[in-house]
Amino acid sequence: PTPLPTLIRKKRDGERLEDAEIRSFVRGVTEGTAQQGQIGAMLMAIRLRGMDAAETLALTQAMAGSGRTLAWPPAWHGLVVDKHSTGGVGDKVSLALAPALAACGCKVRGTRGWGGDRGVSPSPCAHPCPSQVPMISGRGLGHTGGTLDKLEAIPGFRVSQSPEEMRHILERVGCCIVGQSAELVPADRVLYGLRDVTATVDSLPLITASILSKKAAERLSALVLDVKFGEAALYPTQESARELAQSLVEVGTHLGIRTAALLTRMEQPLGRAVGNALEVLEALECLQGGGPPDLRHL
Ligand code: URA
Repeated sequence: PTPLPTLIRKKRDGERLEDAEIRSFVRGVTEGTAQQGQIGAMLMAIRLRGMDAAETLALTQAMAGSGRTLAWPPAWHGLVVDKHSTGGVGDKVSLALAPALAACGCKVRGTRGWGGDRGVSPSPCAHPCPSQVPMISGRGLGHTGGTLDKLEAIPGFRVSQSPEEMRHILERVGCCIVGQSAELVPADRVLYGLRDVTATVDSLPLITASILSKKAAERLSALVLDVKFGEAALYPTQESARELAQSLVEVGTHLGIRTAALLTRMEQPLGRAVGNALEVLEALECLQGGGPPDLRHL
């Protein structure tokens, strides 16, 4: 394999990286042979020089393949769905939407869920669920909060689950939100943390690969993306967010996932609550039919 400093120099000088070179970089990240300084330098080179669509797809695939991919029973074919946001201050939509989707899916059977039988713990269901939401989420990035940090405000909540545990949770409740781990998209776990401390968060190829590597590992059928723009988001302008949305939809489609993106304005925090525990409470209010109108609308 080409030595890492050569790959860094190539990208630094604005050249494109071959698929094998991108795989070699991601292998170094995952196996721990790449030094933190080298990873940071490559991230900055990518942030400044960008990547074309083929490089972005190769990075996404290499990151998705850095750990285990999830496998689902044949009966769930076409029914495994997810949503992901590019992030914004006060964005707690995933906390309300994942269980809401699961509840919609389960309404047909009327046996479980947080919708109709509010306040009742989800009970095991003997039948396959019409839709499943296996969400691999992230922590805070830049000035935007992370779904995992919010969930950890719930005492005892464990965001690290094995693929087998995820399957068990999905069978019981229809949705499951976990983080990247040594087993699940480990490359994103490393790169995500380093982007946050190297001023390389707002990079179109890095955001695309980060989000879609997690979604590819989930083996999704369909995905909706909330691409935010404004002062409380990662990108300030609608034009830059549109470019990001196009990159996400293009790469998602190449991965075989039915992908749609919405551009949503974030000039101010979403809802009234900002702060992990407060945002969980606001998401619960929303699930119970209340909550602020902008959150409910989104
Ligand atoms: N969400 C992610 O998972 N990754 C990003 O880079 C941005 C938002």
